[in-house]
Amino acid sequence: MVLKAFKFRLYPTDDQERAFARTFGAVRYIYNWGLDLTKAKWDHIEVMRYSWGGDFRTCDMEMVATMKNWELKDKSKDGYPTPLNHKQRSAMLTHELKKEEPWLNEVADKPLRYALRNLDQAYQNFFRRCKTNDKNPKKPKKDEAPGFPSFKSRKSNQSFQVQGENVRLDEDAGFVSLPKIEKISIRLHRRVTGTIKTTTVSRTKSGKYYISFQVDDGLELPPLKPVRSATAIGIDVGLSTFVTTSDGEKINGITPFRNSMTRLAVLQKRASRKEVRSQNWKKAQRKVAIVYEKIANQRRDFQHKLSRRLVDDHSAIFVEDLNIAGMIKNHTLAKSISDAAWYQFIQQLSYKASWAGKTFAKIDRWEPSSKTCSSCGYKVKDMPLSTREWNCPSCGSLHDRDINAAINIKNAGLNLLHTNAI
Ligand SMILES: [Zn+2]
Repeated sequence: MVLKAFKFRLYPTDDQERAFARTFGAVRYIYNWGLDLTKAKWDHIEVMRYSWGGDFRTCDMEMVATMKNWELKDKSKDGYPTPLNHKQRSAMLTHELKKEEPWLNEVADKPLRYALRNLDQAYQNFFRRCKTNDKNPKKPKKDEAPGFPSFKSRKSNQSFQVQGENVRLDEDAGFVSLPKIEKISIRLHRRVTGTIKTTTVSRTKSGKYYISFQVDDGLELPPLKPVRSATAIGIDVGLSTFVTTSDGEKINGITPFRNSMTRLAVLQKRASRKEVRSQNWKKAQRKVAIVYEKIANQRRDFQHKLSRRLVDDHSAIFVEDLNIAGMIKNHTLAKSISDAAWYQFIQQLSYKASWAGKTFAKIDRWEPSSKTCSSCGYKVKDMPLSTREWNCPSCGSLHDRDINAAINIKNAGLNLLHTNAI
């Protein structure tokens, strides 16, 4: 089973746009409501547990009585108390909240249930993190904020989700129907093959609507094809050159976007001079968002084409394992954009390779790929970043720094493969 994502632009009518806006708002409201409910009780339990663990006689009697009545039997899998579980929250939504807040009945019910599911997932992740952090405080999963689930603000992503069975896609007519929002015009640039599992509707900051389907194609991943050394490739990523290959190819990814980057900087400066939340400020923000999306689209398009070509042309692809944690900390905008670009690009290579039955592997970044001569294996002690070309003192080969590194990455990958370490 392989999950694939399909993303398409939506063209809602004014009425549908209003329905989307109501749904985005309601979903956020439900998420925050559920979080607030549980957070209040969670804090209460923490206070209780703390008092209980302390000196019994210092607790006031009212607290002790509450403690006794509290159902502490209800525990999550990890042994942490769950003051309210998903089922209870869902029941409260039906029997209490919808009666207190009748406007919630104007939006479809399914996205609200999905929001509660997401909240439950956020709690489960929180409990899991608490548990991992007890044993191994340095190892949260990547992209995870360590704390308690947080409230969603108006500034959060405008989106909602429903399960696949609640979606009807009419590919011939070019419509998609969601609960309570029927026949939304959709631009389908490729056919959706497989069973839709999850559907996400989102609105970008510049006001465009997208729908993405997570689809199970019902197929198994193809078996890995044999690797030949001649068609294997090593890839070195860098700041000045986006990608350098062991075949000696250098591909720039950043230069084509420089115009847009300049425009972005100008617009951001303009936006910063407007009075915050004024009409002009909003207009300026929208312009910034449009250019930002344009840059992101150009980059995605470029990366998809490049990763497709590299996977099609090679039997195995080896890259250096990037230090993502170190990357996130860096400062300049240009650098953080290019870091994100590498990360996305490497993910694309990885999944495209696995669908095509090609080998893909990351090489330990501590292998001295830049400082080793790819011809004779001699290791140079120092290699300042400014050195772009060098002569091997042992065999005399002239090396381009990045191409030499890419060849070493390829050789390390082939070595791993031969020792069955992949
Ligand atoms: Zn050498």
